[in-house]
Amino acid sequence: MAGGNTVSYGLDIPDDKPREECGVFGIFMPGGAVAQLTCYGLYALQHRGQESAGIAVSDGKKIRVEKGMGLVSEVFGRGELKQKLDGFAAVGHVRYSTMGSSHLVNAQPLVFRYHSGYLAVAHNGNLVNGHELRHQLEAGGSIFQTTTDSEVIAHLIARSGETDPEKAVYKAVKNLRGAFTFVLLTGDRLIAMRDPHGIRPLSLGKVKDGYVFASETCAFDTVGAEFERDVEPGEMVVIDRGGVRSSRFSEGESQALCIFEFIYFARPDSNLHGRNVHQARKNLGRRLAAEHRVVADIVTGVPDSSLSAASGVAEALGLPYEMGFVKNRYIGRTFIQPAQEIRALGVQLKLNPIRQIVSGKRVIMVDDSIVRGTTSTRIVEMLRNAGAREVHVLISSPPVTHSCFYGIDTSTTSELIGARLNVAEIARCIGADSLGYLSHQGMLEAVGLPAESMCTACFSGCYPIQADHQPGKYALEKSGEEGGCDGCGLHV
Ligand code: SF4
Repeated sequence: MAGGNTVSYGLDIPDDKPREECGVFGIFMPGGAVAQLTCYGLYALQHRGQESAGIAVSDGKKIRVEKGMGLVSEVFGRGELKQKLDGFAAVGHVRYSTMGSSHLVNAQPLVFRYHSGYLAVAHNGNLVNGHELRHQLEAGGSIFQTTTDSEVIAHLIARSGETDPEKAVYKAVKNLRGAFTFVLLTGDRLIAMRDPHGIRPLSLGKVKDGYVFASETCAFDTVGAEFERDVEPGEMVVIDRGGVRSSRFSEGESQALCIFEFIYFARPDSNLHGRNVHQARKNLGRRLAAEHRVVADIVTGVPDSSLSAASGVAEALGLPYEMGFVKNRYIGRTFIQPAQEIRALGVQLKLNPIRQIVSGKRVIMVDDSIVRGTTSTRIVEMLRNAGAREVHVLISSPPVTHSCFYGIDTSTTSELIGARLNVAEIARCIGADSLGYLSHQGMLEAVGLPAESMCTACFSGCYPIQADHQPGKYALEKSGEEGGCDGCGLHV
């Protein structure tokens, strides 16, 4: 009870998008304001997770951590970081939970004390063998405080038999399978790692007298860092007062950067593998228009992730690109659940059409993806209620037909509308006059990276890490479905 007659149920605003699970940031900068810069970096990565935020800082003797539930501004908004977290290196984390529940105990960075000192861990992604490793470690006497994969690596490090932290991390990471990026802080070193397939992104940047790592390059702009390079799949990069060292814990695996980073997750001002996300999305829109020559009056996009693709559609069709919706940016993750009779207003609270723009028009509404179809239905309805004469929906990706086992919450296959219905049925279901998806080939060509270097499993079922592989058992059990490649020839 929140006081008076107000009851807060803390429910999510209805949403129908895949959810990214985390963003990581690391900095090594003796003499620098590492905690504040990490906080700025986390602000830039906030779109990757809004459930919790945390920063751990090393001063060489100790690692101190501050973390809490909520947005970066809620956790660190009071400006006391310098006094609380002084040091020369830091790691930071923003989280959305796909594995492990949403509680403060699971908020990262996780900090451990073990036989060789202190360790702070910030992690993005899902281990497909996390459950199995946890069982093995527990059978060997390990006691876990959290339900996250991230604690697994800490135990592997502690049990590696190595006293040198670098050797211990190197030995531990060889046991991990799945999609992951880690930034770790030991007493005197910052260590970053990226999984052998490079499914989740991680880049290295140079800042005055130091280095930074971030899930996305937009965080470099925020802290005044220059992009140096992407961390390679299977690479471990170590930074200390002696400089930067690199080694490989895995070689020869096929690359599989998540293509959904280009479609939806990443910020438009980020670059992934040298490709700018806004430009890639605009290309997706151009290609989408080339595949679907819809006759209409205006093109509009669903803010924010679809705006780049919508501008590409408008350009290619020679139609005006209009702001058909205004997004309320101040609602936050939870809100007071409306009474039954006004529940339909929930989406409108978040997104409102501009009647003067859409009324009487044949509207092309561009969105980046349809997962369950619930939001698309409401948005089409909103446009009609605002007077749109026709609503044509164009989606800048193919139908989502398979679940993700690599740290993205795309719902189970049975919930995916693209797995249950064909395109004509989906169009009817969401109430659109027409519906067009981008083709698989069109998506790959628009992104412009080699097909064999991308993960497209949620569109194709071609999982880069074999889904019936024993380590993936837990993920499959969790989703209650079969996995495996349909035979694309690109993946195992
Ligand atoms: Fe990304 Fe889809 Fe692959 Fe998951 S399955 S990593 S969301 S492309």
